[in-house]
Amino acid sequence: MKTKTLIIEDNENNMYLTSFLLENSGHEVYQAYDGQAGVVLAKEIIPDLILLDIQLPKMNGYDVARELRRDRSLSAIPIVAITSYAMPGDREKALEAGCNGYIKKPINPDTFLVKIESYLGKDATENNPAGR
Ligand code: MN
Repeated sequence: MKTKTLIIEDNENNMYLTSFLLENSGHEVYQAYDGQAGVVLAKEIIPDLILLDIQLPKMNGYDVARELRRDRSLSAIPIVAITSYAMPGDREKALEAGCNGYIKKPINPDTFLVKIESYLGKDATENNPAGR
C-alpha cells in the first residue's frame, strides 16, 4: 500500500521538489498551500505522514501541528517540520508543537528520502531485503 503523504507548503519550488521526490519513491502525495487548508485536508484524508512548512499563510506550522495533535485520529501521525529557519530553538519549538522531527531547507535531494523514511519507522530492509 502506498504511503499517503500530505505536504503543507506555500513555496511552489519546494512543493514541486518534495512532491517529485516522494512520488518517485512511491508515495501518494496530497498538497496544501496554507496552514488552514492543510488541517482540513489532513482531517479528510488521514495521511500516514505530514511534511509541514513552518512559515505558512493563514496559520503557521507550529499552530498547524498543535491543531493536528488535538485530533485523536491524527495524534499519532509523524509530522516532519520543513523550515528555513536556522535560528537555534526552532527545532525545539517544532518538537514542542508536536512535530516528530525537523528537516532544514534547502531540501537536499540526496538525503531527503532517507530522512523521510526514518520518520515512517521503516527498517531499511523492509523495502529492500538486499540492503541499500
Ligand atoms: Mn513557507
